[in-house]
This record gives sequence, structure tokens and C-alpha cells, in this order.
Amino acid sequence: MKLWSWLSIAEIRKRRSDLARCRTTEHNTLHFSLFLSLSLSLHLPLPLPLPLPLPLPLPLPLPLPPSLVDPRGARHLLTSQHSLPGIPVALKQTIDLRTSMDGKYKEIAEELFSRSLAERDMLSAPYEFPEDSPIEQLEERQQRLQRQISQDVKFEPDILLRAKQELMKTDSATDLEYLKEQSQAFMDLYPKEMEREGEKEYQRVSISGEEKCGVPFTDLLDAAKCVVKALFIREKYIGLSMQSFCRTTASYLEELSDRPLDMGIYEEIPETSVTADLDQTVHPPVSATHPYENQDPACMPPDIGYGCKMVNGVVHIYTKKDSMDTSTELELPYPDLSEYIADMNVMTALIINGPVKSFCYRRLQYLSSKFQMHILLNEMKELAAQKKVPHRDFYNIRKVDTHIHASSCMNQKHLLRFIKRAMKKYPGEIVHVERGKGQTLMEVFQTMNLTAFDLSVDTLDMHADRNTFHRFDKFNAKYNPIGESILREIFIKTDNHLEGKYFGHIIKEVMADLEESKYQNVELRLSIYGRQRDEWDKLAQWAVKHQVYSNNVRWLLQVPRLFDVYHTKKQLSNFQELLENIFMPLFEVTIDPTNHRELHLFLQHVVGFDSVDDESKPEHHCFNMESPLPANWTEEDNPPYAYYLYYMYANMTVLNHLRRQRGFNTLVLRPHCGEAGPIHHLVSGFMLSENISHGLLLRKAPVLQYLYYLAQIGIAMSPLSNNSLFLSYHRNPLPEYLSRGLMVSLSTDDPLQFHFTKEPLMEEYSIAAQVWKLSSCDMCELARNSVLMSGFSHKVKSYWLGPHYIKEGQEGNDIRRTNVPDIRVAYRYETMCEELNLITQAIRTDELEAITEEEGNLCMGPV
Ligand SMILES: [Zn+2]
Repeated sequence: MKLWSWLSIAEIRKRRSDLARCRTTEHNTLHFSLFLSLSLSLHLPLPLPLPLPLPLPLPLPLPLPPSLVDPRGARHLLTSQHSLPGIPVALKQTIDLRTSMDGKYKEIAEELFSRSLAERDMLSAPYEFPEDSPIEQLEERQQRLQRQISQDVKFEPDILLRAKQELMKTDSATDLEYLKEQSQAFMDLYPKEMEREGEKEYQRVSISGEEKCGVPFTDLLDAAKCVVKALFIREKYIGLSMQSFCRTTASYLEELSDRPLDMGIYEEIPETSVTADLDQTVHPPVSATHPYENQDPACMPPDIGYGCKMVNGVVHIYTKKDSMDTSTELELPYPDLSEYIADMNVMTALIINGPVKSFCYRRLQYLSSKFQMHILLNEMKELAAQKKVPHRDFYNIRKVDTHIHASSCMNQKHLLRFIKRAMKKYPGEIVHVERGKGQTLMEVFQTMNLTAFDLSVDTLDMHADRNTFHRFDKFNAKYNPIGESILREIFIKTDNHLEGKYFGHIIKEVMADLEESKYQNVELRLSIYGRQRDEWDKLAQWAVKHQVYSNNVRWLLQVPRLFDVYHTKKQLSNFQELLENIFMPLFEVTIDPTNHRELHLFLQHVVGFDSVDDESKPEHHCFNMESPLPANWTEEDNPPYAYYLYYMYANMTVLNHLRRQRGFNTLVLRPHCGEAGPIHHLVSGFMLSENISHGLLLRKAPVLQYLYYLAQIGIAMSPLSNNSLFLSYHRNPLPEYLSRGLMVSLSTDDPLQFHFTKEPLMEEYSIAAQVWKLSSCDMCELARNSVLMSGFSHKVKSYWLGPHYIKEGQEGNDIRRTNVPDIRVAYRYETMCEELNLITQAIRTDELEAITEEEGNLCMGPV
């Protein structure tokens, strides 16, 4: 293959026009090229050419022998339960995504892992961008320059004009011609759009001129291939498990793929009736009956008589209960282990590839600078748009606390008042049984030498303080009121002598507060430990018995990664037992709801799984093909993060297919990820989960950060929690992520330990706004993100965000509900399309290049 590096500009241009002439008239799809001078131009009234995803009517070359290409599409190869060890997804694409690293993934991944074990204090890890690199300095200088220019522009309209003329001055007349052509083509294609959007016009920053991304074409191509490969990997796993994948990204991937990605089939089917009364209200209708009331077995879906058992850590379903073998096995897809490990190695090798790292780092820097310019030019317009909307402001838009644990969702003052009230109201109630002898609440406090009067927030001592920083163990101890685990058991557990009565009451008080505030919602995490088979039923009975339900609350189930602890206590003998305790009840209730009625009702309000524990605990095991299967995992050591996540994902995938078959709601994976510890947790998160909590370490890994951006993976960030545990507030990357356009939201994590006021989520927003000087538009954008990434139903979101919220770009925004100006949404959308375009065009140009070369060779001979 010929390297298309430093050709003269004229030559490139000629090539381009030749290509355009002989191939297609849609020359704006071919505008990608190598460009030399980076010039910044401010297009004022002139509408900029939007990146148009026009399909290229070209036959794409097949780099693979036909035997490797499955006519039914790549997903099928993966999904069969009886598939042979998988082939990495890259090999199944028709587009040639081979890069310079191919064939070395396993070695690179293992090398990285062993290095992360050995050199924890390395100056800069292989996936990081070295702090004192000359490139970084160069970037900084460029940014300073840009800032200077933009400041001049702001203060002096004359300068603005001149700057525009200067900067727009392209290096030749042909370039200008080309630019004009582009905008004309855009106008021809979208004249109506532009008319309609006329008033929503804003000032766009665009890069024109020769070099678009600051790296040589070969590097760009290599990086683009890697990025696309990674996105295909995510798309495969997310689609397989029925989680949701960013639509815009999917449509770009689809252009490169030989098969339709049909992401639509995995999405919730939109109810048609939603739009009827939507124009009047932002409040979803509330059902008259309590969701836990309808327990009549006659109303329950019937038993379908399937059988299920766990084989190699993954549940298999059989159509008959009595003969569970391959003849009766139901064809439900789950991921192939060897394929998963191969994909994981590809991802790991990718994040440390030098040129890819450098490319992603530059793109991220560019995104930050571009946002700065956007704000500089459009801040007033954004504010004006917000002012124009009647009634709506930051206080009455919907916000979801996307990451909060039920056992610490109340603040300490609230818990204190509750304990005092309980001591007055139920002094004689037996709350605890020790060695067969019951203890009343009064006796419990007497043994601690305390009266209700003595209690204060200080004696409760549950607030995180400077001693918890980097000490997760000390932080965990803070969950015990007055340092006594018995009080934790009595007041904040669902499974105790009182069957969680007090905890149910206190959660209902929190719910009442939320309902009163109307616009705040939470996704509470409850624990399933996996020590016993009846944990799910007990939890559901707790919820139903105490009627713990609110329209403002959805549940997530968190599974602590504590196998080693239970194993040492002899509660579990192998890892598969843990998995069985977590997943078998879910399959049983899905097959026969009448047998677990409470659980069936409760599950309708559960949106997904979370995986929790201290990520900074060292891992001694590398997950590969030699790792023991769950039934053979009998070691003292805890399995690594990736191992937990893979088996949770695999079982959830089978469960989702079964639940979809029965018409029940499906679940998603939303683990704690990237709070501390090794970077490869974020790789697992990228591949398997719909969104993550924390994501702090993305700041160190540019490739992953760029990928999280392109896939628009939700990141629920909790800067106050981080400030107490892992990263001080002023170093938190949230403002940086937000400016680059990552899908971030604000969440509280543990109000009991970190917050002081009655509205912890507002406290979180308020501190962020003050410290980082967030604008009202930024805050509303964060709130909108939180609703988008939350697990509330499609119907509810249609009321909160607008009936068309699923649509891409500003069409999906309804400022009357979200208070986010269309300008901001349009900016985000256009910027992302530009990035995706840059990458997909690089690959396409390479394809075209290959074709023209072939044709050239053919022509040469006879003529
Ligand atoms: Zn948390």
C-alpha cells in the first residue's frame, strides 16, 4: 500500500477533484484531506458546512477470504451458545481495520498488566500522556494564542472583521473556491432546515485550511482504525445485552459496516399515546393504584415451565424442567469467553499505542479549546434563550441523582432525628437478638451508656473527614453510627430482626421529601451480596411490606465484590455459588412470577446492576484464558474486577433476552468504575456497561477518554465524594469532561457521609457551580444529561425532556422543559458529528485511495 504522506497540495487537490469527477458528485464527503496550515476561522452569518453523513455508493474491498465472512452478520457468530472460540470483531468487518499492532495484542496486554503490578509509582504509565512532553507544551502555546485572538475579537469588532479576513484567507484561490462549493452544497441540500433554524443561528468555530488534526495522515489513519475498532467492540457487547448505544455514533459506524447495526430493536418500544397531552404538562400521569398492590396470582403472568441451571458461570435455559440437556436448550445469546478476552486484549493494546494516544490527546485538547471559543462567542445568546422561556429555570427542571446508595441517602441530621424519635416511640420493641436473647431498643442504648439526649451529629460520627482521604477502610467504618455496627444493623439494613422496618420508614421519609421538591429524583442502590439464595425474595418482601415506592425513585442493585471475605468465613466455597445466589432467583421469577410475587413486582422498578467496592485494592490475578472457571475459583484471592464484570454481564445478557421474550423490563449494567485503581477497569466498563459511576481515571488515559466521548457513555460523577476519598475538589476533571462534551452528570454518592443540607443534590450542584464558575446553561445541561442517562422509562423521559427527546441534535431538545438552549445542544451535536466524520472519512479516503490505485494500474498497461 502506498503511503499518502506529503504530496503537494496541488496534487492532492487534483486527486480529489479527479476522484470526485469519476466517482460521485457529492464532493463534500471527500473534503477530508491532508492539510498543512491550521487556521482558525470565525464564520459569522455564513452557515458552515455541517458534516453530512452521505453514503458513498462504492464497492468496498473485501480483505478477508469469503470463508471468514459470515453472511448472517458478525453478531450471529458471537451469539450462538455453541460457537467456537470467537474471532475478534475486527476480523469480521468488511472494512480493513488492520493496524500496526495486529497480532501483538495478547503480549501487549499482559505486559501492561504485569507492569501495572510491578511499577505502581511509575513516572507516567504507558496509557498516559507524559506530563512534560513537548507536544503538551506546544498545545499550550497554541491555546494561549487562540485565547489571545479570541479576546481581541471580543473587545474589538474591527479586529474581529480583520481577523476573520486574515484567518479566512486561505492559502490559494482554489481553497476558497472549495469552501464556497461546500457551503453551496450544504445550502442546496438543506435549504428548508436552514430557513427554519434561521433564528437559532449561532456563531460557529471551525477549522479550515490544510491540516485538520495535527498528525500525519498515516498516524491519523492508524488512530482512526483503532478508534473505530474499539467502537465496534462496544457496539457488539451493548447490542447483545440490549443496553442502549449512542444513536449518532451508531449511524456513523453503520456507514462503515456491511450490515445494518439495527440498534433499534433493542430499545424500548415508544408508546404512541405519549404525545397526546404532552404539550400541556411536564408531569407524567400517576397511576391510581399502588404498584405493589396487585398481588393476585390470577393477574400475574403464568409459569412457562422452563428450567434453568448454571454452566461454567452462565445460566442456561431449557424448555423442560425435567430434562435439562442440549436437546431442550433454548437458544439465548451470551458472549463467548475467549472472544471477550481477545477483545479485551485488543482494547488494552490500543490505549497504550503511541500515535493513537497522541491523536486522541490532541483531539481532546481541541475539543476543550473549541468549547472555550463557543462560550466566548455565544454565551450571551445562550443566556438570552434561557431568559426567553417562561416559568422554567434551574430549580424546576428535572434532575436525577444518578449515583446514590440507599443506606446513606439521608443526611446525618435526618438519621439522628429518626433515631431519637425511634427511641421515644418504640423503647420496648425487640430490635436485636443475640444468643437467643432479645434486646429492646432501650437496652441496646443502655449497653452503650447513651440516652436520646446525649446523641448529636458529633457522637454519630458518620461524616467523612480528612482521615478518610485515601483510606477506604476508614470510610467504610463510617457507615456505623457511633462506630457501632449494631446500630447500622438496626437502622440501615433491610434484613434484620425487624425485617428492615426502621430502614423502610426512613427511606420513605426521604421519598416524601423528594416528592415535595417534585423535580428531584434518585436512583438508589440496594445491596445483594450473593451469600444466600433468598436475598432477593427478602429484599422484595421488605419493599412490598413497607410499601417503599415512589415515582421519584428507581432502584439499582449493587453487588459488593467481597467473594474473598465470604470465602474466608466459609460462607461460599467457590465463585459460582455467589453467581448462582445472585442470578438464579432472577431467572426463576422471570420463568414463574407466581412463585415469587413480591420479587416480580419489585423488579419492575429495578433498572440495573451496580458493582461496588474499593477499586484501589490490589489485584493479583490477570483475567485470561488460563483463569479458572467460576466453579473452580476456590482460591483465597478475590477475582479481578474484569472477572466480576464479565460474569455479571453474561448472566444479565441471558436474563434480558428471556425477560424481553416475556415482555418484562430489561436491566442494564452501571458499575462503579475508574474511581481509583488500575486503568483496565475502565476498559471493562467501556466494553460491557451502559454507563459508569466516577470515571476519574479517564483523565489519565486520553484514548479511553476520547472513546467515552465518542460513544457518549454516561459518567455519574460525585466530586464531593471524591474530595473526601480519592481526589481533591480542585483537581476533579468534571469541568474538563463537560467542556469536551462527555456525557457527565452530577450525583451525591453518600449524602450521609458527604453532605450537610436537606437537599444534597442541590448542594452538589451549588458547590460545583461556585467552584468551577458553571453557567446556568452548564448546570441545565448537566441536569438534562442526568435524565438522559438515568433508568427512568421512555414515557417518563418524554414528559421530562420533551416528546422528541430521542432525536439527535437540537430537534431532540425542548427548552420549555429542559431550559437548555438549542444553541448548546446543536453545538454538542455538530461537534460530535465533526469528530466522527474526521475518523470515518479517514478510513473511507484510504479505501478510495486503494481503489484509484488499482484502477490506475489497470489503465497504465494497454494505453
Ligand atoms: Zn458509590
